[in-house]
Amino acid sequence: MGAELNRDPDVRASVAADASGMYMEPDAVARPKTQRDVAEVLRRAVVDRMAVTTAGGQTSTTGASITDRGILLSLRALDRILDIDPVKRTARVEAGVMIADLARAAGEQDMMFAPDPTSEVEATVGGAVACNASGARTLMYGPTRVHVRALKVALVTGEVVELRRPPVLEKNTVGFAFAHDPVDWFVGSEGTLGVVLEAEFDLLPKPAQVMGLAIPFRTEEAALAFVVEARESGAVRARCLEYFDARTSAIYRSPGSTDPEATALPIVYVEQTYDGGTEPPFEPWLELAERHGADTGDIRAYLDDAALREARRQRHAIPAAMNERGSRFRPAGGRKVSTDWAVPYRKLAEAIASCRTSADAHGVPQPFVFGHAGNGHPHTNFIGSDAAAVGRYEQVVEETLRMVFGMGGTVAAEHGIGKIKRRWLPLQMTPLQISVMRAVKKQLDPHDLLAPGNVL
Ligand SMILES: Cc1cc2nc3c(=O)[nH]c(=O)nc-3n(C[C@H](O)[C@H](O)[C@H](O)COP(=O)(O)OP(=O)(O)OC[C@H]3O[C@@H](n4cnc5c(N)ncnc54)[C@H](O)[C@@H]3O)c2cc1C
Repeated sequence: MGAELNRDPDVRASVAADASGMYMEPDAVARPKTQRDVAEVLRRAVVDRMAVTTAGGQTSTTGASITDRGILLSLRALDRILDIDPVKRTARVEAGVMIADLARAAGEQDMMFAPDPTSEVEATVGGAVACNASGARTLMYGPTRVHVRALKVALVTGEVVELRRPPVLEKNTVGFAFAHDPVDWFVGSEGTLGVVLEAEFDLLPKPAQVMGLAIPFRTEEAALAFVVEARESGAVRARCLEYFDARTSAIYRSPGSTDPEATALPIVYVEQTYDGGTEPPFEPWLELAERHGADTGDIRAYLDDAALREARRQRHAIPAAMNERGSRFRPAGGRKVSTDWAVPYRKLAEAIASCRTSADAHGVPQPFVFGHAGNGHPHTNFIGSDAAAVGRYEQVVEETLRMVFGMGGTVAAEHGIGKIKRRWLPLQMTPLQISVMRAVKKQLDPHDLLAPGNVL
């Protein structure tokens, strides 16, 4: 199949679900093998006024990569790593390359692709660009956006444009500042403005050594106070500060666990890089942990590549378990209700406590809480067993979000808005901001064919 559309029911069903728990069958599926095919699909779609929703790995948690309108355009076959340049420290890849494959290829040349969403084995670089994905290491290296140097984008007309970041000028008064760098228009645009065909990324030197520590604490408060001090103390230099509450740390400790009631002490997982030939910087972490009453006798250390991979596997087991538990209830209208909000990191403990209070007030079970505490960015997950339970959890989420906005936070720190979180956009952005976004969308996609229902 090149630019042809496949309307076979089984093929349509095979792309009807992502990690959001929603199910939407497209009218047709396109699986182009070349960039030229992608442009051809778009050209024909405009003529036929068919909507086009681009998909990479379909790991979206917000329903962004599924649709029940028009064509689902899967870019999985555009999977070539085109160039890795160890001198310029850059990588040029097609959009369908898996993040983990790019990370591995960069690692083989002693470099690092910094964005590390937990889903890296199943998610594509095109999806990471389109969602501005983050990960545990974002604390030190920033989100995907800061690593993108250039993009090749197919506009809805099928015209292909190469966009490169302009040089950073000390002085520049040309036009509106938000128009200066078109690369930024497309990073985080969730497929609504164009189709990313290729991306060029900055790579970083691979750290000589990395130490990971999983530190158990007696209470959530102690763990989160430790996170704040770890960010602010000059004695340690975390590249990630991840938190797992009592229920998710049970999954972290036993990744195969299927008991939803199992608990263990809350954990903070930290990583720090250090120079080759030196000892792991264990002592300052131990001191800090002891000051916060950690159970230092039960700290797990991860000191080589294999051990660090194991830590990632344990970490990945948590969202995977949440997705699996949520999907079991789909026939009854249930699903996982998850959040992606973030607050300034000092306010994280207060925000999580408010969410827990709200859950109690609504008489629903407590959420599973885990994620990027160093960035003030937890994921709270509820498992709704039917549509009514989902509705009750959504009330808790809405209440929490209002409090999050009051703290200067955001509804979507890394997963994007997609379809599920669209209704909360007006709580965070003013009507003026939304109308400017609509105007840009209208200019780039006048017939509203790209990823309808995402974001706006
Ligand atoms: C278990 C699990 C863990 C996760 N952990 C993280 C995490 O740690 N950090 C994080 O940021 N996210 C995480 N996610 C969410 C998700 O993996 C990321 O958003 C990822 O970047 C999506 O990539 P994808 O290839 O699966 O994109 P898809 O899900 O296929 O698409 C996502 C969005 O991008 C658009 N899109 C995809 N490819 C293109 C393209 N080439 N051009 C234009 N638009 C495109 C789609 O239209 C859609 O709007 C997780 C998801 C799961 C299931």
